[in-house]
Amino acid sequence: MIIPKSREEIELIRESALIVSKTLGMLAPEIKPGVTTLELDKLAEEFIRDHGAEPGFLGLYDFPNSLCMSPNAQVVHGIPNNTPLKEGDIISIDCGAKKNGFYGDHAYTFEVGEVDPEVKKLLEVTKESLYIGIREFKAGNRVGDVGYAIQKYTEDHGYGVVRELVGHGLGRTMHEDPEMPNYGRRGRGKKFVEGMVVAIEPMINMGTKRIKQLPDGWTILTADNKPSAHFEHNVALVDGKPELLSTFKYIYESLKIKTKEEDEFRAKVYD
Ligand code: MG
Ligand code: MG
Repeated sequence: MIIPKSREEIELIRESALIVSKTLGMLAPEIKPGVTTLELDKLAEEFIRDHGAEPGFLGLYDFPNSLCMSPNAQVVHGIPNNTPLKEGDIISIDCGAKKNGFYGDHAYTFEVGEVDPEVKKLLEVTKESLYIGIREFKAGNRVGDVGYAIQKYTEDHGYGVVRELVGHGLGRTMHEDPEMPNYGRRGRGKKFVEGMVVAIEPMINMGTKRIKQLPDGWTILTADNKPSAHFEHNVALVDGKPELLSTFKYIYESLKIKTKEEDEFRAKVYD
């Protein structure tokens, strides 16, 4: 059942989402060769608590940490550990925070030092597909319209779209209806309703769409061990249009990256 949110509730979700956005921004300059994912996890947990929130993932379905840390061929749900990151790695960081009873949940794939051009391209296309998908989250559309847009764009680049893991509604629980697959058919699935809030999160593989799971019961990785990227935003349907509740601007500020991607997204939505 889709649970539409009031304007007040959407603002509370935005508050939690922005704590996640700021956490990712705080982590960005720390992501360097030699740092371990467990060190980054500790920094994040402290930062989230200092902002009056609780880590959203810690203990959720018994997950042991605050961040999901998935390097290279890991797709999602990697567990932080003591292995240092190295030059040329990518690391997908998924972060959740809960404040005032509402969750924020989003993700970004970071480059560690200098990354191969073809891996850079995977990150670029996956992030572009995120915004392309979000633009379809609008009045009159259905779940399949978002999935179709993401699938079409990424498959046209020759990438594999993970089937087993999907985006989701977001609110007082981390995973609400509807499921938001990154594949689908136009005009199919549940219809979007005013006030609903979702996490849209393409998980895109450089090679096969197929995945496997490590014996730890959590870590998902690509079946062919090629890299995978993951970008996620939290979005509300307001006045029939998608409104971003999360932002990557703190990451870009930390890394001194000049981009207008979120402004360009808004320009396209409101044109
Ligand atoms: Mg997430
Ligand atoms: Mg999510």
